[in-house]
Amino acid sequence: MKIAFYGTKPYDRIWFEPMGKEYGFDIHFIEAACNRETIFMAKGYDAICIFVNDYVDAEMINALYEMSVKAILLRSAGYNNVDVKAAEDKIIIMRVPSYSPEAVAEFSMALLLTVNRLTHKAYNRTRDFNMSLNGLMGMDLYEKTAGVIGTGKIGQAMIRILNGFQMHVLCYDPFPVEGLEAEYVSLEEIFKYSDVITLHCPLTSDTKHIINKETIAKMKNGVFLINTSRGALIDTEALIEAMLQNKFGGVGLDVYEEEEGVFYEDRSGDIVKDDNLARLLTFPNVLVTSHMGFFTREAMQAIALTTLENAYALENGLPLVNQVGREADLQ
Ligand code: NAD
Repeated sequence: MKIAFYGTKPYDRIWFEPMGKEYGFDIHFIEAACNRETIFMAKGYDAICIFVNDYVDAEMINALYEMSVKAILLRSAGYNNVDVKAAEDKIIIMRVPSYSPEAVAEFSMALLLTVNRLTHKAYNRTRDFNMSLNGLMGMDLYEKTAGVIGTGKIGQAMIRILNGFQMHVLCYDPFPVEGLEAEYVSLEEIFKYSDVITLHCPLTSDTKHIINKETIAKMKNGVFLINTSRGALIDTEALIEAMLQNKFGGVGLDVYEEEEGVFYEDRSGDIVKDDNLARLLTFPNVLVTSHMGFFTREAMQAIALTTLENAYALENGLPLVNQVGREADLQ
């Protein structure tokens, strides 16, 4: 199988290069992101392999179909960046439904601990021999209430971590699961009672801007908000408006609505054109990271393995257990 691998970073090659050889795949590593300008590079390949900040819209699906590309191999769990409907009966889409939920949950907790205890600021201060504590006061997480929105694999891992801190854990999911050490409540109650709100649901038409002006107004003053799921779960302008009114104790964002083309790139020498992102970065209690919740050795290895297993299954006519849109039928 010939695979056009878009958006290649050095850390992708560590596992994909040797494992791809073991499978006998011919992988062509392309640095450019997959978009309308670069889709022509898929010509002559059986599959393209893409990540979260690549996209494939309906027009690109048609282009791939005409180029006889059979599959889109997502090296991610989320697939909101691909027009799944347009691909129906044309191109098979496969994803990596689970690689290390713990990696993302642990990173969510890292964001929470950082924006709460301001260790990133303390680090900078002490390096400059500024040993003052002014402005660095946090709150105990012990016995506070955490609200988890989305209790899938990552949400459940987060619930385990929050319980380790002896927090009272509330959760919301339209498809509740049994046996969690957390209390299912309504979304309203999550907003009303939580000292910490952490987002672990996918981006869908239902969840887009689930955090907006109205829902923020329902939250406690001083609430902490953590988003490691997808940027568009939060209405950024509403968030900024609320930040200006001191609504939040702290906000940790691993994802951002307009991250495409910015995250994963070194833009340090460029003029920032995104005023909302620039504004967010000015708040002392906001920490933005570059969509790196997944970024552990274990997760990267698992992503490579599952992506190549998906390609192998396709090539050898095996059941496509990770096919997007068909997973429910196969379970
Ligand atoms: P999952 O499919 O296991 O769980 C998602 C859960 O969200 C499901 O239980 C689902 O029922 C629930 N859900 C659906 N609609 C909802 C709604 N309206 N309100 C509340 N819950 C809703 O997915 P997961 O593996 O736990 O991943 C969660 C999200 O994390 C992914 O969709 C992806 O966007 C994000 N993610 C981020 C990173 C990162 O590096 N930051 C890495 C992996 C995944």
